[in-house]
Amino acid sequence: MDETLLKGAFQEIRSAQRILVISHIRPDGDAVGSLIGLGLSLQDLNKEVQMVLPDGIPAIFRHLPGSDQIQKQATGNFDLTLVVDCSDLTRTGEVLIGKPVPDMNLDHHPTNTKFARYNLVDKTAVATAEMLAEYLPQFGFPISSQVAEALLFGMITDTLGFRTNNMTPKAMKIAAKLMEAGGDLPGLYQKGLLNRSFEAARYWGAGLSNLERDGRIIWTSLFLEDRRSVGYPGRDDADLINFLSTIDETDVVIIFVEQGDGLVKVSWRSQPAYDVSQIALFFDGGGHSAAAGASIKGDLKSIQANVIATTKTMLGFM
Ligand code: AMP
Ligand code: MN
Ligand code: MN
Repeated sequence: MDETLLKGAFQEIRSAQRILVISHIRPDGDAVGSLIGLGLSLQDLNKEVQMVLPDGIPAIFRHLPGSDQIQKQATGNFDLTLVVDCSDLTRTGEVLIGKPVPDMNLDHHPTNTKFARYNLVDKTAVATAEMLAEYLPQFGFPISSQVAEALLFGMITDTLGFRTNNMTPKAMKIAAKLMEAGGDLPGLYQKGLLNRSFEAARYWGAGLSNLERDGRIIWTSLFLEDRRSVGYPGRDDADLINFLSTIDETDVVIIFVEQGDGLVKVSWRSQPAYDVSQIALFFDGGGHSAAAGASIKGDLKSIQANVIATTKTMLGFM
């Protein structure tokens, strides 16, 4: 990270009073943890902070202190707009439409489009929360136990419990500091990665019975009807993809989730030798080498055929 750029950005944050912090649609643990961690640290310096998630805060993240402050809309004027964990501006939904270019973009996605005035992008960071856990203390911003909880949660969830292949010794050291500052690693791990609802388990059942394989690619689909019949409340895959990624002799896993608005959410996961972010980018999505996603318009079956064929071609599987 360019030290001059970083210093300039944090000086501007220090001089601002009214600050908007925003993260991405379909928020994951890093989006929520980074948003709350940064938001609460700024509040500890007596700044007026609004924390916004365009889709609101999902029930599974409401255990995090500070999550009750998250709104779906920004209201009023701000000195500074900070966007966390978003690879491009469309990931912020409609909150910033018609607003000036955001002041800061703090992110770790290699597919980041550098859409802000200050682009603090570190693709070697395992989570945006890791970047914040490094920068906040470096520039004299406090890490209370609540801030530590939020940032450690972001790191645990984006690394699936410190086991993704982008893990680094630096990330482990930063996580240890967050534990020292009050982050409850076992508790956060349990809540972020292990606990699931009965409905989610039955929804997995639907996904598992639709599972297909062609060579070293496996895929499944989750339909609106699957969610309706088991009473699963989300529009996501209930993290089924992380389970599918543990299946032997598989290089790439793909999940197709019907959204009900003419869109299909597609997620890819791959073994280290394969970069699926470029395939997601091809479909106007983005992500990391080993974990990427896109939302594609159309009928699920034709999207499935197109995505599987494109994945095979782009990865040289035929
Ligand atoms: P997911 O498949 O939603 O679990 O996302 C895997 C990774 O891809 C995450 O880092 C997401 O931020 C990123 N990602 C997912 N969907 C999109 C999208 N439509 N545009 C850009 N990045 C995405
Ligand atoms: Mn995220
Ligand atoms: Mn992230």
